[in-house]
Amino acid sequence: MSRGLYLGRFQPYHLGHHQVLKKIAQEVDEIIVGIGSAQKSHEIENPFTAGERVLMVTSALMEFDIKHYVIPIEDIQRNSLWVSHVKSMVPPFEIAYTNNPLVIELLSEAGIEVKQSPLFKRNSYSGTEIRRRMLDGDKWEHFVPEKVVEIIREIDGVKRLKTVAQSDQE
Ligand code: NAD
Repeated sequence: MSRGLYLGRFQPYHLGHHQVLKKIAQEVDEIIVGIGSAQKSHEIENPFTAGERVLMVTSALMEFDIKHYVIPIEDIQRNSLWVSHVKSMVPPFEIAYTNNPLVIELLSEAGIEVKQSPLFKRNSYSGTEIRRRMLDGDKWEHFVPEKVVEIIREIDGVKRLKTVAQSDQE
C-alpha cells in the first residue's frame, strides 16, 4: 500500500494539476491532496475558499477511480515546522509530489522522498493566467476541468474575483 501526497493552492484547480494527478494515480495506491493556504480566500491571488477548492479537487478526482483524501492545510508562520504541521493533518504517506522549490526543500530536509512532475502547458495551465483571464473577461474555461467550470459558475467566482480586485480609492 503506497500513499502519495500532492500539495498545491489550487486557485483554481486547472488542467495542469489534473495531468499531474492522472500520472500520480498510476504510481500510488491512494492519493492525498493537500489544499495549501487553506485560510486564504477572497483575495486577488486566492479568490476561492478551502471548501470550494475541496469541491473542485474532489469532483476532478472522481474521474480517476482511485481512493483519495482532500485535506485543507492552513499556512503557519514558521517554515521550519511546516512539514510536521502537514504530517499532523494528513494520513501517513511515503512520497510527495511538488515542483515548488520551498516545499521541495522543506520536505527533503525532513527526509521525505519528493518527486517533481513535468509542467504541462505552463503558460496557459497556470492559476495566475486563469485569474488574469477571468479579470479581463477572456476565455478561461478551456484551462480547467468541466466540473471546475460548473463549480466556479455556481459560486459566481468570476464576479467575486472582479469585486475583490476593485479599489475603493477611486
Ligand atoms: P500551486 O497550486 O501553484 O501548484 C501546485 C503544484 O502544481 C506545484 O507543484 C506546481 O508546480 C504544479 N503545477 C502548476 N501548474 C502546472 C502545470 N501547468 N503543469 C504541471 N504542474 C503544474 O501551489 P503551490 O504554491 O505549489 O502550493 C504550495 C502550498 O504550500 C502553498 O499553499 C503554500 O502557502 C504552502 N506552504 C506553506 C508553508 C508555511 O505555511 N510555512 C511553507 C511552505 C509551503
